[in-house]
Amino acid sequence: MLFVILRVAKNPPFMRALVDILRSEHHLDSNGYKMLLESNDENVVNYLHQQAREVANERFDKGIFVRGLIELTNVCRNDCLYCGIRRSNKSLTRYTLTHEQVMQCCQTGHAIGFRTFVIQGGELPRDKAQWLIQLVADMRSSWPDCAITLSLGEWTRDVYKALRNAGADRYLLRHETHNPQHYVSLHPANMSLKNRIQCLEWLKELGYQVGTGIMVGSPGQTINHIIEDIEFIEQFRPHMIGLGPFIPQHDTPMGIYPAGSADITKRLYSIFRLMFPNVLLPSTTALNSINDNGRIKGIMAGANVVMPNLSPADVRENYALYDGKISSAAEAAEGLAQLETQLASIGYHINWNRGDYK
Ligand code: SAM
Repeated sequence: MLFVILRVAKNPPFMRALVDILRSEHHLDSNGYKMLLESNDENVVNYLHQQAREVANERFDKGIFVRGLIELTNVCRNDCLYCGIRRSNKSLTRYTLTHEQVMQCCQTGHAIGFRTFVIQGGELPRDKAQWLIQLVADMRSSWPDCAITLSLGEWTRDVYKALRNAGADRYLLRHETHNPQHYVSLHPANMSLKNRIQCLEWLKELGYQVGTGIMVGSPGQTINHIIEDIEFIEQFRPHMIGLGPFIPQHDTPMGIYPAGSADITKRLYSIFRLMFPNVLLPSTTALNSINDNGRIKGIMAGANVVMPNLSPADVRENYALYDGKISSAAEAAEGLAQLETQLASIGYHINWNRGDYK
């Protein structure tokens, strides 16, 4: 009897119906998510992507928002076991862009047409907070028409508040995994999932548009962990969701593990697009780094944002989060013509607006 139920449950019409329910009700129970992530049927996966694409197109009219990514620093006070810029990595040449360099990146980006700047980096020493706040204030007064997104890790509520008051609009902070044991296995003892979630709550309270997310296929991650992440994200209701495959970096303790799956990453893009039709969902550099034409495939799975690299060319190789990270060609701000051509080939275009969450 059980065998019959399972066979019926996994048959193609049933699986397509699951996708239809997710599209209309924006929710499934945990078994539904699991079945979509585990399905071996290519037609089901294609249907999932097609439905997600349709929903994205209804909202965004085949426009893709671009964000100018400025990799502020590879200095980090944290020691995440998977990350190439972790404090213990002694093989890296450390850098922090100067105030003037960041302003120069923004000026270049503004002239190209960017209306969102994303300042991402390792977690600077706490006494650098005032410097960061001044940087954001100067960006805000110089480019009042632009959104400022920060991705600078964990700070106190007061620092988040001061950054917000200085003019920051959005904050990206992936929770990385919502399973406490898994979190502990990926991070040193002085970091905690509790604090990470607390930071996300503060950011929301302070009126940021908030992004969270995970690395797909991080060492030790199981399908049940991913379901826990989906359910956390579903109840947290972020404005942005950052999802990319884990990719090993050879100087880290997790450098020997295999990379995560591009296929699961794209299924998650589609699941989240159907769950949150308006969400801002980047097709990430990590996906593009392990999957041929991954950025375009991410868009075909429902993503609607890309983040070309605006950092000065001579520091890019030192922002070495993982091996084989792409920072040139269509991943780079100077390669926008290539990005436009790639998008045009699938009938899409760049949307140069700020692209706030609506
Ligand atoms: N320190 C800030 C933070 O923790 O949010 C921002 C910078 S951190 C390097 C940005 C993101 O890079 C992390 O949230 C993580 O998901 C991702 N990352 C780090 N190491 C990675 C790896 N080996 N493979 C894929 N993504 C990685």
